[in-house]
Amino acid sequence: MEHTPEGTPVGVDDPYEIAGVCDHLTDDGRCRLALAHAGVDSEFAAARRADDYACHVGAEGAWADCRHYRSTTSDRDCERCGLEAVRMAHDETARPLLEAHHLSYPDGDGTTHEITVSLCRWCHAKVHNSFGRIDDDAEPDPEAIAERETRRAAEQREFGFQPASERSDR
Ligand SMILES: [Zn+2]
Ligand SMILES: [Zn+2]
Repeated sequence: MEHTPEGTPVGVDDPYEIAGVCDHLTDDGRCRLALAHAGVDSEFAAARRADDYACHVGAEGAWADCRHYRSTTSDRDCERCGLEAVRMAHDETARPLLEAHHLSYPDGDGTTHEITVSLCRWCHAKVHNSFGRIDDDAEPDPEAIAERETRRAAEQREFGFQPASERSDR
């Protein structure tokens, strides 16, 4: 899949409307980057430290104002149609149902940031090739559902018919 900052459409007008919580934000509103990786930007880390490591843009996210903001996908479900990931624990070679899609790329000086969301393969193709939008009210593609059900059946055989929802790793 070809991705360039000025190339194929990313399917959204303003990446920051879709963008999630900063990867560096801790549950208690502090900056993990400053806490654990101060060497990345010592000036930035010193400023956070002086404020008890509080995130200076806050959980409500004036994200674009922070040069270290980054929001990458958790790979759980498709941002567009909601299709859930089904991992093939016994088959590492199976192509994942979900792919990371870049809404924005870091430019190195903090005016743009790395923002990715998960899209299923089918939505990903629609976004890049046929003007699908991330915020479309989309249902999963019939092919995507078929592929998911095939995987779930394989997964149930693997785990002896124990429903996925009752397993402790979910
Ligand atoms: Zn999808
Ligand atoms: Zn993409």
